[in-house]
Amino acid sequence: MDFEVLRKRMVEEQLIPRGIKNYRVLEAFRKIERHKFVPQELAASAYADYPLPIGEGQTISQPYIVALMTEYLGLTGEEKVLEIGTGSGYQTAILSQLAKEVYSIERLEILAKKTEEKLKAIGYANIKLRCADGTLGWPEEAPFDRIIITAAAPRIPLPLSEQLKEGGKIMLPLGENSIQLLTLAEKTKGKLESSEICNCVFVPLLGKYACKDRDTL
Ligand code: SAH
Repeated sequence: MDFEVLRKRMVEEQLIPRGIKNYRVLEAFRKIERHKFVPQELAASAYADYPLPIGEGQTISQPYIVALMTEYLGLTGEEKVLEIGTGSGYQTAILSQLAKEVYSIERLEILAKKTEEKLKAIGYANIKLRCADGTLGWPEEAPFDRIIITAAAPRIPLPLSEQLKEGGKIMLPLGENSIQLLTLAEKTKGKLESSEICNCVFVPLLGKYACKDRDTL
């Protein structure tokens, strides 16, 4: 299977026609080998226009949604970014191409370990990973220029809004139902101003400042 052809086709057929324009974002999607971030048996579907299971009941988002969230972050290459919900590490790898440093937190140890090994093997110098409750943020590395949450949150976790720089942006799926609102909030004079982008479907963000997990928290 020629993954490079599939990757180019994904950009030409799924991203550009739906309005993804930023040259650097499109280049990152042409470059990052998405088939290395999905379970091996699903590699043939890695560039398809839908989410895929990555184990532990979690999913890797549809390419377009990853691109949309990334484009709205407006990265120039100078930013320090915090990602909550590493999952497969695909969004993390995309961000590593576009920002200066990426800090990513995953709460499930099995996924965190697998993804850490994978990212190490591919070799990204500007990614740091942690296995923890991401709703607490990463206080030692704060403040961040951008924060991206890739799981659905009932509200913006307080520690994360505190760890966002003035003028910084946070992107997340907001809502407690099966369909959420992709939301971009900007910190102006210490306050978050939100704008809604579109409907979306994500797995829930679990943790101290999000949804309670009956089994483990
Ligand atoms: N960006 C990922 C999406 C993974 S799905 C990708 O491209 O593959 C969302 C992930 O968020 C899951 O792996 C889930 O375990 C994780 N998650 C949920 N709540 C979390 C929390 N409080 N802290 C860190 N990760 C969390």
